[in-house]
Amino acid sequence: MNDPVREKQDTMSESPAKYDVIIIGSGVGGLSAGLTLQTLRPELNTLILEQHNAPGGYISGFRRKGYYFDSGAEGLVFAGENQNFRKAIDGLGVKLEYLSIDPIEVLHYEDKSIALYPDPDRYQQELIRNFPDSEEEIVKFFEIIIALQKEYDSSIKDGLEPSFRELIKIVFRRPTMRKLALKSYKKFLEDSFSDPELIKVLAIYSLWYGIPPEDIKAVSAAVSFFSPIFNGHYYPKGGMFAFAQGLTETFVKRGGEIQYKKRVTQILTKRRKAIGVGLKDGTVIHGKWIISNADLKRTVFEYVNMKKFPNSYLGKVLKKDQSVSGFAVFLGLDKELKGYPSHMAYNVDAEKLIKNTLNGIFDPKEVLIRIPSKIDSDLLNEGKSSVILLSFAPYNWAHKWNKNDPEKYKRTKENYADMLIKLAENLIPDLSEHITLKLVSTPLTFERFSLNTQGAWYGPKMGGLNIKIQPPIRKLFLAGANIDGGGVAPCFFSGMNVGKHISKRFKPWQRTARIMFPLISYFTNRSKMKVLLNPSRIK
Ligand SMILES: Cc1cc2nc3c(=O)[nH]c(=O)nc-3n(C[C@H](O)[C@H](O)[C@H](O)COP(=O)(O)OP(=O)(O)OC[C@H]3O[C@@H](n4cnc5c(N)ncnc54)[C@H](O)[C@@H]3O)c2cc1C
Repeated sequence: MNDPVREKQDTMSESPAKYDVIIIGSGVGGLSAGLTLQTLRPELNTLILEQHNAPGGYISGFRRKGYYFDSGAEGLVFAGENQNFRKAIDGLGVKLEYLSIDPIEVLHYEDKSIALYPDPDRYQQELIRNFPDSEEEIVKFFEIIIALQKEYDSSIKDGLEPSFRELIKIVFRRPTMRKLALKSYKKFLEDSFSDPELIKVLAIYSLWYGIPPEDIKAVSAAVSFFSPIFNGHYYPKGGMFAFAQGLTETFVKRGGEIQYKKRVTQILTKRRKAIGVGLKDGTVIHGKWIISNADLKRTVFEYVNMKKFPNSYLGKVLKKDQSVSGFAVFLGLDKELKGYPSHMAYNVDAEKLIKNTLNGIFDPKEVLIRIPSKIDSDLLNEGKSSVILLSFAPYNWAHKWNKNDPEKYKRTKENYADMLIKLAENLIPDLSEHITLKLVSTPLTFERFSLNTQGAWYGPKMGGLNIKIQPPIRKLFLAGANIDGGGVAPCFFSGMNVGKHISKRFKPWQRTARIMFPLISYFTNRSKMKVLLNPSRIK
C-alpha cells in the first residue's frame, strides 16, 4: 500500500522540532522516562502521546458503574520504605501513600491454605505448619534466601535495580549467588525439597514472570520473588490508577505535556535518524528524540520503516517470543465481601498453568482472585465490592477465540467467565448470586488495550537475546517491558535509564540557547517596535 508520508520521509526537509522528546505510550516506562527527563532538564519540552483517554497502560485502572478495577498490575514490589524502587519514585517527587498487602496472597488447595506473609519468620512458620515433615529443609532454604537477599542489598548502587547483565556481574562477587549462578529456580527447588507439593507451592512465584520455573534463574527468582516476603508488597492508596495519575501529574507539573487519544502509527526517520512521529489522524509531530514505550515488534516492523534496520537486528527482534497473555473477569457485586484477604489463589499449579498456556491450551482448573477494597476500603462502591478473576490464557486459542464470529466470540467469553466464577465459588461460595456487573477480557481485549503483540501481559518474554535501550536508529530509544521484560519496577527503571541517557546528551549550549533565545528575540522585537512607533528613527 502506498503511504505518501513514509515515501516522502527521506527527502522531507527536517522541519524544526516542536518537541525535544516525544514518547509513544504512557505505560510506566513512558511515564518514568518523561518524568526523569523533565526533572533533570526542566527546560526540555517532552510530549507523551497516549492512544487511550487515560494514562498508565497496565498500571491503569478504571471505573464502571462506580466499581473500581485495576487494568493490570495489582501490587508493587521493591516499594518498601528503603527499597530502590520506592526511593526512585520518591526522588522524582511523586507523592503517594502505599498500603501494605498482608498477606501477599493466600494459596488454597483441597487440603491446605497457605498464607504468603510479608515477614520471613511468619512465612517460614506458615510453611512448616503446612509441611511439618519438611521443617529442616524449609529452615535451610530460608538460610540460603536470607544470604541471597543480603548479598543483593549490598550490591545495589545508585538506588537503581541492576539489569540482568549487572546481576550476572554481581553474582561472581558474592558466594551464595555464585553457588546458584547457573541453576534454574526449578533445580534450586528440587535440590532443596523432597516433597513435590511443597515445590509446587514455592513455584507459585513463576506466575509473576509468566515463565516456567526451569526457565528462570534461581538467583533472580530468589531476589525478586522473596523481596515482598522480606520487604513487603504494596498497593498505592486509590488503586494502581492513583500510581499512574501520580506519575502523570508530577510529569505535567515539571513542564511535560501529555496528549490522549493520539495513536502513533509511524516513527519518521531521515537518514537512519528518528525525526518525529505520524499519528493515525494524519498529523505529523517533529521531535529531536523519540522514545517508544509501545510494543517492540510494532515499533520495529510497523512504526519505523523496517528497511532502516540492519537484518541482524530484525532477526533478533523476530526471535523474541511474547510473554503469556490472560483471561480476566471484572465483577461488581451487590454487597461487601467480608472476611477475605485481598489476593487469593485457588488450586494453582503455576508450572502446569504456564506450560499449558505456552502450549496453546486453555482449560482453567484454577483462578486468581483480587478484591481491591480489601486493601483500600475507599475503593468500595457505596459499600459494595468489586472483584477481579484472572487466569493465563493463550492468544491463539480456538482460532483466536472465535473472533471471526462475534456471536461465538461472545459465547466463548461468557462460558469461560462462568467457569472462572464457578472456580472462585470454591472460596466465595455465593459469588454468582451477587453479581450486578460483569466485564470479560480475553487476550484479544488485552491486545487492543495495550497494543502489545498477542496481548502479552509482560511484553516480550524475558531471557534470550538482550534488547538495548537504543535500537540501531539514531535518536530512537525504547522503554518499558521491551527492555528487561515486564513488571512495574523493571519497566519504571528502564524508562528512568532512557531519561538519564537522553538528558546527558542535551548539550549545555542548547540549554543556554534556550534561555538566550527569548531574551534576544525580546530585545530585537523591542527595537522593531520602537521603529514602528517612531518612524522618524528610520533614516
Ligand atoms: C493482568 C496483569 C497483572 C499484572 N500484575 C503485575 C503485578 O502485580 N506486579 C508487577 O510488577 N507487574 C504486573 N504486571 C506487569 C506490568 O503491569 C507490566 O509489565 C508493565 O506495567 C508494563 O509497562 P510498560 O511501560 O511496558 O507499558 P504498557 O503498560 O504496556 O503500556 C504501554 C502504553 O502505551 C500505549 N501505546 C501503545 N502503543 C501506542 C501507540 N502506537 N500510540 C499511542 N499509545 C500507544 C498503550 O495504550 C499503553 O498505555 C501485570 C500485567 C497484567 C496485564
